[in-house]
Parts: sequence; structure tokens; C-alpha cells
Amino acid sequence: MIYFDNSATTKPDKEVLSTFNKVNEDYYFNPASPHVKGLETEKLLDSAREQIRKLLKLDQQSIIFTSGATESNNLLLTGMARAKKQFGRTIITTKLEHPSVLETVRALEEEGFIVKYMRFKEDETLDLEHLEGLLTSDVILVAMMHVNNVMGAILPVAEVASLIHNYPKIHFHVDCVQSFGKVPLQLEGVHSFSLSGHKFNGLKGQGILVFSQLKTIAHTLFGGGQEYGFRSGTVNVASAVAMSRAIRLTLDDYEMQRARLYQMKEEIERYVKQFPGIQLNSQQNGAPHIVNLSFVGVKGEVIVNAFSKRDIMVSTTSACSSKRAKLNESLTALHVSDEAITGSIRISLSKNNTAEEVHTFNEVFREIYEEVEELLKK
Ligand code: PLP
Repeated sequence: MIYFDNSATTKPDKEVLSTFNKVNEDYYFNPASPHVKGLETEKLLDSAREQIRKLLKLDQQSIIFTSGATESNNLLLTGMARAKKQFGRTIITTKLEHPSVLETVRALEEEGFIVKYMRFKEDETLDLEHLEGLLTSDVILVAMMHVNNVMGAILPVAEVASLIHNYPKIHFHVDCVQSFGKVPLQLEGVHSFSLSGHKFNGLKGQGILVFSQLKTIAHTLFGGGQEYGFRSGTVNVASAVAMSRAIRLTLDDYEMQRARLYQMKEEIERYVKQFPGIQLNSQQNGAPHIVNLSFVGVKGEVIVNAFSKRDIMVSTTSACSSKRAKLNESLTALHVSDEAITGSIRISLSKNNTAEEVHTFNEVFREIYEEVEELLKK
């Protein structure tokens, strides 16, 4: 099997799995318990937090362990909007966001918040002048992703941070789920960000929220007051320790893996570009692990099934939206035509993939292309 759906999830590293199992066996105690085993477990949790702080070169920020980036994004956006509502009601984001951001801000609209969307120019870059126009004194929150999960577009976090810098009231949240381990994180001027373990060979149900002004946020989860009172619920210590391991493993050979990913991506792009009727949607200067292309005139599902039958796993737009009938919003926001969106597939790579797999993929691509060639709009 060739697995090219790594933006949906990755295979856990053996070391991450064994860490998770070991901590579960040896430290299954509740870190909030007052006895010696509870205290030892709490110490282990603190050391996982400390290690992540060091690895990510964080300063005074708080690290909160969550069940994944969906929870991190929800907790932050809802808690921050509610905490700041006396200062303003406007939230700015992009249509490129993952549903954990888009659906949360839509729910906040029901509470009376106003949501505005940054625009993208025809060349698919963020329209910073348009954003400048949106930055009024009513804005309390700006949320955007660093790397888009469908197209691999890299968004200009640093430029947005420097625009926001002039508005001290605004909280700037970045979803770094698809960028961590793939492109350098841009954290200057960022007030909070989220990561998800299973996107970099960690485990599913494992995320963090990193936050610089914890006291300024409203709580949305109530209970035992764990994680600084912000995320109640018995902490999954084994998951936290395994997450710190996954982060370390990712950073250990990050430069080398990044170069490998770019090579594999370029190899696929160079190959598929020669076929009439194939439209390459991902940009050359995009993230190293995502190729998005369209078989214009054929449904993406048909192509995904054809690959799947040959034991190659690719995806239509993204795992979260591919089962829904509506067209992918991020592709629309980036001016991809409806017909191209319908025929789009995503190939997403990880450090586990090899040049041989890319070679096989390209051969199978030709086979499938020849099968559907007559249907393609050239
Ligand atoms: N943000 C982005 C950009 C993603 O790609 C994903 C997962 O697909 C998420 C957030 C949600 O992460 P999780 O699966 O950990 O909830």
C-alpha cells in the first residue's frame, strides 16, 4: 500500500507508541492526586510541558494539552471572543480555514459576533491591503492558518502579525497544524497557536494550545479546573509525554525531511504537468507535502477510487469535507473554478514516503489518465 493521505493523518512513530504504552503502564495515576504516585505523575506531566517549551523555543507561554487541534481552536476562539466582547465584536479569518475554525466563528455569529473574511488575490496570495481595510477598532480577534490543508498554500503570518501589531486589542491566533514540521513556524507577534499530534507521526486525539495571556480568556469547559482551569478533565499524561516525543522526533531531522518532501512533491508535479487536461492547483512555493491537482471534467471521487483500487491512498479535497456534497470553500476562495474543484484530488506526503513510491504513483497516474482521457476537458 502506498499512503499519500498524510494531511488527513500520519502513521504514528514506533517510539511515540512505545512511550504512550510505557507511560500508561507505569504512570496511570491521576496527576491531580495528592499521594506520591500522583505527584510523580504530575512531575512527568510538567516535564513533558517543559520539554515542549524548550523544543518550540517558547518563552512565557502556557501550553495546554487538548484532545486535538479541533478542541484547541474551539477553546481559544470561543473563550477569547467571549472574554473580549466588551471591547468589540468583529472577528477576522479566512475562508481557507479548517472547519474547527470556520464552524466555530459561524457559531459565534449566532452569539452576535461579526465575522469578516480576508480576501485572496487572483495570484492566490493574501490581499494585505484588503485586510488593512478590515482592521477597525471593533476587531478583537484574527484567526488564520499557517499552511492550508487542501492546497498547501503558505499564508503570510509574519506580515499579518506586523499589521495587527498596531492594534493592541486584537488577539492573533494561528492554526499551525499543517505547518509544524513542514515549514518554519512564524511565531513573532502570534498570541496563540494550535498543533495536532497525529499530523506529525504522533497520535490521534492529541493536541496542544499554546497561549501567551491565559488570564485574559473566558473558560468554556467547566469541571475540575485542570490545565490552569482552562481545560477541565483528567489530563492524558501518556498522550502529553508521547506528544513531546513526537515533537522532538519531528524536529530532530526536520531540515532533511523537508528537503526530501520538496523533492518528492516536485517530482510528482513535474510529471503530472505534462498531461493535457490536468490542472495543477498547488503552488510551487507552497508547503512541501501537499500536491493538489484536478482532472478537469472528471469527478475527484472517481480518480480517488481508481487509485484506491490499485492500493494507493489519496484524497479528494480534505478528509473533513470530502464526504460532504458541497464544493471545498478554500479552493473557491483561491479562485479555482467549480469544475476544477469537482475534479480535484490531494496527494499529501510524509517522511515515511519514498522516491520509489513516487515513481509507482506516477506510473499509475498515467494508467488512470489514459482510462479517463476521453472525458477530460483539454
Ligand atoms: N486544522 C487543520 C489545518 C487541520 O488540517 C486539521 C485536521 O485535519 C485540524 C485543524 C483539526 O485537527 P484534529 O484532527 O487534531 O482535531
